[in-house]
Amino acid sequence: MQNKKMKIGIVDADLLDGKGTRFPNLAAMKLSAFHKWKGSEVDLLTSWLWGNEYDHVFISKVFTSTKIPFWIKPSEKISLGGTGFYFDNAPSLHDEIEHIMPDYTLYDSYIKERIKSGVKASIFYEYQNNSIGFLTRGCFRKCPFCVNKNSRTVQKHSDLFEFLKEDRKAICLLDDNFFGYKDWKKLFQELIDTGKPFKFKQGLDERLLTDEKCEMLFNCKYDGDYIFAFDNIADYYMIESKLELIRKYTSSKNIKFYVLVGFESVDVTDIKNMFLRIELLVRYSCLPYIMRFRGNHNSPWEKSKFSGIYTTVARWCNQPKFFKTLSFREFCEADRYRCKSLPASMRSLIAFEKEYPEIAKLFFDMKYKQHATCNHDKQTSGWDRTTYAISLAETCNYL
Ligand code: SF4
Repeated sequence: MQNKKMKIGIVDADLLDGKGTRFPNLAAMKLSAFHKWKGSEVDLLTSWLWGNEYDHVFISKVFTSTKIPFWIKPSEKISLGGTGFYFDNAPSLHDEIEHIMPDYTLYDSYIKERIKSGVKASIFYEYQNNSIGFLTRGCFRKCPFCVNKNSRTVQKHSDLFEFLKEDRKAICLLDDNFFGYKDWKKLFQELIDTGKPFKFKQGLDERLLTDEKCEMLFNCKYDGDYIFAFDNIADYYMIESKLELIRKYTSSKNIKFYVLVGFESVDVTDIKNMFLRIELLVRYSCLPYIMRFRGNHNSPWEKSKFSGIYTTVARWCNQPKFFKTLSFREFCEADRYRCKSLPASMRSLIAFEKEYPEIAKLFFDMKYKQHATCNHDKQTSGWDRTTYAISLAETCNYL
């Protein structure tokens, strides 16, 4: 324990970037808990300007795209941390900080202010209701775009009691690849035994799904949508078989898939792969969430000739109320009615369709409800999904 009572400032950099993160920074909450435990006074700093009264300021950043003022540099009085600064080389917190109960009150004053200024309270649901932590950490897949690319295995990280607060309604796990852990079943049962709803915020690895996992996963008290990832077109048939498995256990639950784009390439191949993945997911009544690759310092898709298509497809898919009712073409046409001049979405659709009419014909008029329902009907009348997938893939010269 230190002798002098210190004044500590904590900055959640993602919160200050203006993009409005909706999730608390776990490292910031642990730092706060640790320094309070040492007797210090801790404040969450909600601007980049703070007075001299702080003995030390910790700045934590999760997202590489978050911008910070140029004059922020590590010094005797300032420490920087997190994947947003150091990506896969981010130093870990010391064990005594990492394994402390997070200070779930860190954001209280900030939330109160925001609600008073008219922001909806529901935006802060996870801040106010979730126990947040990692049961396991790491992954064995080494995906080159991931902060875990240097990790080799999934290992046990914390016991549930380290971050579980009885007065919090739900549990939010940040595990990288929970089902990749050898004793996943034991940990899963512990979660069920709390009686609280829980979710895996970073998504689960659908490639590891089995009957046993599906049985537990789709019969537990899950909090919100199930999230998986479909990052690579090479997994097309594997994902298709897992979608069959998922729909064997649940026909109605909301299933979302992150779809990474703009990583392998930013050419027409990548655009075709994106639409192929969207189509497959829709066929199984799942929702795609388009993740445009953001590297450490650059996002190649932004400079590509398809940047308009990437942006518009992301806007279409990532807003379920539009995605579930409008085809891609209708979504762009709806933009047209709102704008006086030809909107960027429509301009990119027209340019793409002119150059690649065969791709536009396959995907631009696909509608979630018709495509999903129609194909389910076809399946019950002997329609063969795999044959459809193959003919679609062949048309696209893929797989
Ligand atoms: S499977 Fe997920 S967590 Fe694992 S390396 Fe790939 S992206 Fe990262």
